[in-house]
Amino acid sequence: MSMMMLDWSRRAACQTMDPELFFPITLEGPGREQVERAKEVCRGCPVRQPCLDYAIDTRQMNGVWGGTDPSQRRSLTPMVPLRPETVPVPPLPGDR
Ligand code: SF4
Repeated sequence: MSMMMLDWSRRAACQTMDPELFFPITLEGPGREQVERAKEVCRGCPVRQPCLDYAIDTRQMNGVWGGTDPSQRRSLTPMVPLRPETVPVPPLPGDR
């Protein structure tokens, strides 16, 4: 999780841990083992749900959040844009 202090993060099991555990450089090989160790910490965390909700709401695409890795979060993330104003405006009749 990020270093940003949120209400729920004060009770985070990872609060006093090395943040690097939760942000492996790669998700393969040793990085995969690191992810599994981070998820093990999340398993016993009292704020796992708000952590995961935050990660999905803010589209955190790196690291372990709420016991999930990036590919798991992608499958949980609604397919709606973060900023609706980025959706292309459909043409109106008469537009070229
Ligand atoms: S769920 Fe995991 S990443 Fe989130 S606050 Fe808890 S220990 Fe940290």
